[in-house]
This record gives sequence, C-alpha cells and structure tokens, in this order.
Amino acid sequence: MGIAVTPPLGLLLIMQYLGFRVTKKVFIGLLIIPIITLLMVATNDYHYLHYKIFEFDAALGKPYIYQEIGLWYSIHGAFIFASMLVAFFLLLFHWKETDKVYRPQLIALMGSQFLPMTMAFIYSLGLTPDGFDPVPAVLVISSLLFLWAIRSSSLFRNMPVAKDRIFNSINDGVVVLDDHHRLIEFNQACSQMFPQLKRSMLGMSFQDVWDSLLEKPMPYTLDSLATMQEVSLPETGRTYQVRLSALQQPNYQNGLVIIFNDITELKDLQLKLEQLAYYDELTQIYNRRAFFEKCMQLYTVAKEQNAPFTVMLMDVDYFKKVNDTYGHAIGDQVLAHVAQVCKSQLKDKELFARYGGEEFVLALPNYSVVEAEQLGNQIRQAIENTPLVKDDIVVATTISGGLAEAAKEIEETLYQLLNAADKALYRAKHNGRNCIYGGPDRK
Ligand code: GH3
Ligand code: MG
Ligand code: MG
Repeated sequence: MGIAVTPPLGLLLIMQYLGFRVTKKVFIGLLIIPIITLLMVATNDYHYLHYKIFEFDAALGKPYIYQEIGLWYSIHGAFIFASMLVAFFLLLFHWKETDKVYRPQLIALMGSQFLPMTMAFIYSLGLTPDGFDPVPAVLVISSLLFLWAIRSSSLFRNMPVAKDRIFNSINDGVVVLDDHHRLIEFNQACSQMFPQLKRSMLGMSFQDVWDSLLEKPMPYTLDSLATMQEVSLPETGRTYQVRLSALQQPNYQNGLVIIFNDITELKDLQLKLEQLAYYDELTQIYNRRAFFEKCMQLYTVAKEQNAPFTVMLMDVDYFKKVNDTYGHAIGDQVLAHVAQVCKSQLKDKELFARYGGEEFVLALPNYSVVEAEQLGNQIRQAIENTPLVKDDIVVATTISGGLAEAAKEIEETLYQLLNAADKALYRAKHNGRNCIYGGPDRK
C-alpha cells in the first residue's frame, strides 16, 4: 500500500510546499493509478495483471518471494517513478528562488525523491541482493526526510481550513513574516492589491518581495512596530494604511503581521472635507480659519528667519450700497468677482483669504511694507478698472486697504499685527476710500 501511494503523496506534498495550487482534481487525478494498483494487487489471483507469478521462492524458501511482473505492474512502476522524477525536478527548478535558509529542506526533499529512484534503478538492474527489494526500505528514509523538512521549516504549516477561510475573507491585505522577516503567508486580499505577489515568493525576504512588487522603496522599517504608515501606489491609484504588529507565536517570537488597509475612499473624503473646511464657498479662496492656520506657520517661519512679513486687510467700499441697489445675489457675485480679480494679481507665495463679509486679507511673506503697498495699489487699481459686468448691469467697486509690517525689534503676535492693519484700513476709509494706508507714505 505504501509503495503505491507514497510517491504521488510525496509529489502532492512537494507541490504544496512550492506553492502550487493543489486542487481536488489534481489530488484525485494523482491517486487514481495508486487506487487501481491496490485493487489490482487485491484481486491479482483472478487476472494476474499485476503479478504474473507471485509465490514463495522455491530455491530461497520462505519468506522470500518469487515474482514475475504483469502489465499493470509496469504501469504502476512507471507511474511511481514518474511521480518521484517530477517532484525531484520541481524542487530543482525552485532552487534559485528558495531562500538560502530553506535550502537544507530543499535538499532533504530532493533526497527523499532521489534515493528511492536510484534504488529502484539499481534494483531493476539486478544489482541488489537476491530476494530483497530495497525500495520500500528506502521509502522509510524518504518519509523521515519529509518529516524533518516539515518540522524544521515552519513554512510548511497548513492552516486548518476554517482559519484559512477567515484569513482569505479579510478585506485587508495581510502578510505574515517569520522571525527573519521572510514572507510565510499572505491572503487573497493581498494578492488582489499586489497582482505580482506570487506564492513562489514564499520564503523570500520581505524586503526583496517589496522591491520586486513596487518601484518605490519600502516607506517603513520592519523594526519599528509602533509606526503606522501610509503608502500610495501610483500604479493602482490606491492608498493603503500599513500597520505592523508582532506575531508572538511560539514558533515565531519575532514574526510580524503586516496589514494593508485600503483607505483610498477615506482619503478622498478627507480631501473633500478639507476643501469644505478650508475654502470659502462663495469666493473659492481660503476662509478665515485656513488663513489663521497657514498664516501662523508663515509668520513663525518669517520670525525665525528674521525676514520681512506684511499683512494687508482689504474692505470693499460702500458695499451696503451694492446690496441695496442690485440685491444680495448680485452683491454675492461682486464679492466672488473682487476675489478673482485680486487673485489674478498674485503669485503663489502670497496667502489670500476671505476674512469676513466683504473683507479680504493678504499675508505677504518676504514683503516689506513698501513692496506690499505697491502690490496693494496694483490690486486696488485692478478692481477699480474691472467692474463686474452681468447681463445689462455693470457694477463698479473699489476697495480700501490697510497694511502692517511685522516689527523686527519687538515681539508682536499675529493678532496685534492684524489689528495694526485694521487701524490702517480704518484710516484709509476715513480719508476717502479707494486707497491703501499703512505704508511709508501715508502713515
Ligand atoms: P465701507 O466703505 O465703510 O466699508 O462701507 P460698507 O457699505 O461696505 O460698510 P460695511 O463694511 O459696514 O458693510 C458691509 C456689508 O456687506 C454689510 C453686509 O450686508 C454685506 N455683506 C457681508 N457679507 C456679505 C455677503 O456674503 N454677501 C452679500 N451680498 N453681502 C454681504
Ligand atoms: Mg466691512
Ligand atoms: Mg465695506
């Protein structure tokens, strides 16, 4: 029974070991001939297809057997020999991609195939002692080699079916690494995330796996467990949150579980929320909250670098009149228009926001008050010269502006600076509007 079944089972084991998908069909297919062989042996007395003769050896006496093989014996013999040969070559072809530490196991498995094959060959040449078939004996050694390979390489550790199901039904990509951070398992979600991930990569160091999957370097180190990172893959346009946790299993004291959680939709939503939180809906420029957050950073940098920093508050002149004359809807359009005209006069580095109702603010890093006044007048003129034209109505507006440059010698908060600009704006309003105050000319 062992002789018929061991070689195909060995082949199945090696296929599984090397990451081939052993389907039911393959499994049953490989066991058809052995089962027929068992039936043939059991019923040999009726057909003599397996052994033509099978009796105690007349010359050597009991327990020696004299046998002459039949047709099925040849088929069975060819089949078991082929099973071992195929298994041997499968192992040989996987030599290169098998991590060095697993090579002893590979050699053991190759030995488990090679020994009985050679023995069978020697036996068939009649070179072994009379009445003694060494193949079954050698298969015992094969089994021992199998056992050693299985026990010593934790690679070959079949998960129970239920656990396997759960593992593969997780939506997150899960990768399991052994003590030396070699890939020992990954689930189906992971294969979908990384189509190039193959079972033949089992046993490879995860660093190598990563390098062969993606062009960008691994954005985290496997040693820092506390880190939680995000990876965006331009190839697929998805973003994953990567979590690492210790495996803490008896066989893998330092093993790792890496979980890839697809957060692409969450990221998109976050961007949309940020857009809502930071931008003014009417004018599509930064709102007051965004202004303070960003301006605070710019102001801190300017202070650190001892660089000039100027702010300008702008207020639309007689805006109440616009609302009263044309209605609130046109008033809204004038505000959006003023914001666009103002924006068209700016480069990238200026921070421009809607400060409140019909008030706007500009933070100007590296602008002295002189330069800021120039820019302010440029904006003021642009607005004056570009009225809003809507159907048959033309709404001309002007703005007044108040400037304040951060003082270098005294400590001054951003709020104090904006307050100074507000005072300058008030003076501009007081002195006739459509002008910029706070600069060197008009204190
Ligand atoms: P001044 O030149 O002194 O600034 O005169 P003003 O008429 O602009 O006076 P004030 O700044 O006090 O008035 C601002 C007006 O802007 C009051 C308010 O009804 C209007 N306003 C504020 N926010 C909006 C808005 O979002 N849309 C519209 N249509 N009007 C607004
Ligand atoms: Mg106002
Ligand atoms: Mg106003």
